[in-house]
Amino acid sequence: MSGPPVDLGPFDPNNTDRDKIMSAGAWVPCRICEEVFLRVRLTARYCNTCSRAFCEGEHGSFAGRGPAVCVQCHRPANRP
Ligand SMILES: [Zn+2]
Ligand SMILES: [Zn+2]
Repeated sequence: MSGPPVDLGPFDPNNTDRDKIMSAGAWVPCRICEEVFLRVRLTARYCNTCSRAFCEGEHGSFAGRGPAVCVQCHRPANRP
């Protein structure tokens, strides 16, 4: 064994990336890289809003102790 376990499966609503990372300590593909750029970039970060993995810095933010959020969820709130 070298490095953390890796789960390359697709996003599963019944076993979200958050679950995989938190319970298995697994690294999973950034879903934005996967869906938009068709590339695999492993990450152990996940969005607190949608529970999908994202790569830190490029497709989400993990600012200090605040909740992590991916760029897909990090949109301006729907203001009137
Ligand atoms: Zn990414
Ligand atoms: Zn999200």
